[in-house]
Amino acid sequence: MSSNLQSIRGMNDMLPADADTWRFFEDTVRAWLESYGYREIRTPILENTALFKRAIGEVTDIVEKEMYTFIDELNGESLTLRPEGTASCVRAVVQNNLIYDGGKRLWYMGPMFRHERPQKGRYRQFHQVGVEAMGFAGPDVDAEHILMSADLWKRLGISPALELNTLGDAEARRRHRERLIKYFEANVDVLDEDAKRRLHANPLRILDTKNPAMQALVEAAPKLMDDLDEESLAHFDAVQRLLHDLGIEYRINMRLVRGLDYYNRTVFEWVTDKLGAQGTVCAGGRFDGLIEQLGGKPAPACGFAMGIERLLALLEVEGIKPEHRAPDVYLVHAGEQAAAWAWQVARDLREKNVSVLMHAGGGSFKSQMKKADGSGARFAAIIGDNEAANRKMSLKPLRMEAEQAIVNIDEAADILQRK
Ligand code: ATP
Ligand code: MG
Repeated sequence: MSSNLQSIRGMNDMLPADADTWRFFEDTVRAWLESYGYREIRTPILENTALFKRAIGEVTDIVEKEMYTFIDELNGESLTLRPEGTASCVRAVVQNNLIYDGGKRLWYMGPMFRHERPQKGRYRQFHQVGVEAMGFAGPDVDAEHILMSADLWKRLGISPALELNTLGDAEARRRHRERLIKYFEANVDVLDEDAKRRLHANPLRILDTKNPAMQALVEAAPKLMDDLDEESLAHFDAVQRLLHDLGIEYRINMRLVRGLDYYNRTVFEWVTDKLGAQGTVCAGGRFDGLIEQLGGKPAPACGFAMGIERLLALLEVEGIKPEHRAPDVYLVHAGEQAAAWAWQVARDLREKNVSVLMHAGGGSFKSQMKKADGSGARFAAIIGDNEAANRKMSLKPLRMEAEQAIVNIDEAADILQRK
């Protein structure tokens, strides 16, 4: 295949071989979200570029270099494929006045797009599940989000570790910013190009660098913790007390600042050392200023998002392999009368909640039975002209030692329905 007909680098097909795992994940996630009373929201994948610039921040990796942005030639508007879900979610809440009568607990799931260098655990189209609680000041909601995520790991059978930090309020971050600028100015020869550019625009972002040459410098940088305001400290204490009461273990990581500008106060990440460099599987925190920043009435909010590909990779590392859902029965038929009866049998069984893979393309009984075996179905239903004449079928177990039986449709349904 010529390369311009192949999929775009960093954007992957989800192949049938992986479908069982995706489905296990999605089913688990939906049941989990329901059990916490969260409701789904779906927003468009395309938004005005201005939305992401305003929400995520101009001087961030995402806005500076990772967005898929293009001009809509019909009207000259600048549009962007969503790189994350919170901005759209907040936009939809403001635009539709969703929190006029109190807080709302929402979730979304879907593809996100970032123009990054593709590697294991880092793709250009990837998928997230996101959870947002809008209109809640916490700290109980902060703790609920952390508890929720911990609960999901249990349901999935994985055990990433929790890292926690607080970013304080805007004033604390302003104080911290001044100290950071002084500190980095004094060490300007260690800064890379990105960091130099950000030194005055957004020094907090420098703490988020992935450049190994700057780690020691960043490690020794002034801590936001020392600039914290009283209220944020009290909020952080309350979150920690709740986590303690809930029996959730965590490590405070004062370097955790998150890559998006909208966060304040509580931030957290769930990390694993089992996936190499891309070890963060879930991240979130509080964004009390964002709703107002996007034009809504001021209201606090909190949320988190997880990377589905990374979580699925972790399931694989942990050897968690969801059961393959094969059809209940493979329908083998040869002969003209047999075919007519087989259509009927297939339709009736499906109505009775039995999944039927009907043989297509003709061929001998023997070659059809080979296909039946390969299909993974638990049974083959065999119909020849004889069975057709009696309005019956021969039901043969394929996955266990048991007798073949001649049965009618109702009897077959009884045997085939998953109990
Ligand atoms: P990273 O530091 O790994 O780039 P991030 O801070 O940019 O992550 P967030 O914007 O917080 O990521 O997104 C939440 C989660 O989405 C991440 O923790 C990760 O699991 C997943 N994620 C982010 N970017 C990608 C990507 N390019 N490919 C796959 N998963 C991703
Ligand atoms: Mg990133």
